[in-house]
Amino acid sequence: MDFLVRDANVWQGPDRASIVVDDGRIERITTDDLEPPSSTEVINADGRLVTPTFANPHVHLDQVYTADEHPNVSGTFEEAFETNREVKYDYEASEIAERAGQALEEAARYGNTLVRGFADVDGYAGTEGVEALLECKKTYADVVDLQVCAFAQEGIGEHTHTQGIERLREGMAMGADVAGGIPWIEPSEASMQAHVDAVFDVAAEHDADVHFLVDDTDSPTSRSLEYVATRTLEEGYEGRVAVSHARALAAYDDYHAERVIDLVSRAGIHVCSNMHVVLYLAAHRDGHPIRRGITRVDELLEADVNVAIGQDDASDMWYPFGVNDMLELGWFACHAARLSGAAGRETALEMITTRAAAAMGIDTHGLVEGRSADLVVLDAETVREAFARGADRRWVLKDGRVIAETETTTTLR
Ligand SMILES: [Zn+2]
Repeated sequence: MDFLVRDANVWQGPDRASIVVDDGRIERITTDDLEPPSSTEVINADGRLVTPTFANPHVHLDQVYTADEHPNVSGTFEEAFETNREVKYDYEASEIAERAGQALEEAARYGNTLVRGFADVDGYAGTEGVEALLECKKTYADVVDLQVCAFAQEGIGEHTHTQGIERLREGMAMGADVAGGIPWIEPSEASMQAHVDAVFDVAAEHDADVHFLVDDTDSPTSRSLEYVATRTLEEGYEGRVAVSHARALAAYDDYHAERVIDLVSRAGIHVCSNMHVVLYLAAHRDGHPIRRGITRVDELLEADVNVAIGQDDASDMWYPFGVNDMLELGWFACHAARLSGAAGRETALEMITTRAAAAMGIDTHGLVEGRSADLVVLDAETVREAFARGADRRWVLKDGRVIAETETTTTLR
């Protein structure tokens, strides 16, 4: 045995247990008394809660930490789009890699070892973002498994700076893992559908998974999610498609929402909600009561749809906060998606760990014997306490190695 975590309260597992790690994997989880050989590294969890590491299936890594240099002064969606173009018009791979690297280090510190990072690919951005993230993927491989999503943020229409599909093709050829699109911003139903079709074509050329940003609006006329679901079934891409936002689903009448949720369930689509960004950025034109724009999390879960949470944005024009701390976002979801009570907290924790990993196409994440030893020892004994205190990540292990350690002490005077 290479590593032993002693006296752990294993999340959704036994209490006062030992986690035996060998060759980077969880060899055994047991309540037996173990006497490790002297060569074994031992951590005493001292009754603390141990969870799988966190996963973040959606974050725009090419834009992180630009909020001070390129502020969104009005805090609106419209200004965010403009500022986004400003930033990417003259950003360069080396500078992007520096900011993205800082975000990945922060992620690891907070116990977040699985990240799907997005990089815009269009006439403004070129493919600089993909180049930078592919470099980061190598540089930070020891602490974070990064998936690079080439993302056609400007659509695929004809205006000067779009070049969406051409640049997406380039990004995928460079080695991006995931093909990303945003069909709901297209000006017509026909162009929305053409956008979805084109992204599926590029993905199929590379046998790559797909991630769409869908219906990020409160308008019930926005219907890209159902088209994505239909095409997923036609392409035989069940389980390989994730979507983010799906706000309009909350605005549909119940009858239509039920039909769409059924399609989404049959297509095995993973839904990532980014509630903190929506509550910050959306519905600025509303009088009271202000719409909340959060997708139908409860109904999706009830229909066996995998729902996860993404950071989406960290200190950029879309959202001026966010540090890749998924525990913060799970806590937030308890409020925003009304995941109340003990069962709700469990679901929220799944949405930032196992469900978030599944949204990235990884269904082998979790505290299970035989799986990779990617785990967090939280400085809390229960899930409730972990959320309540935003608990320190006392130790973070990836592949059975400690990659981060935190101990905070405050002295009152
Ligand atoms: Zn996003």
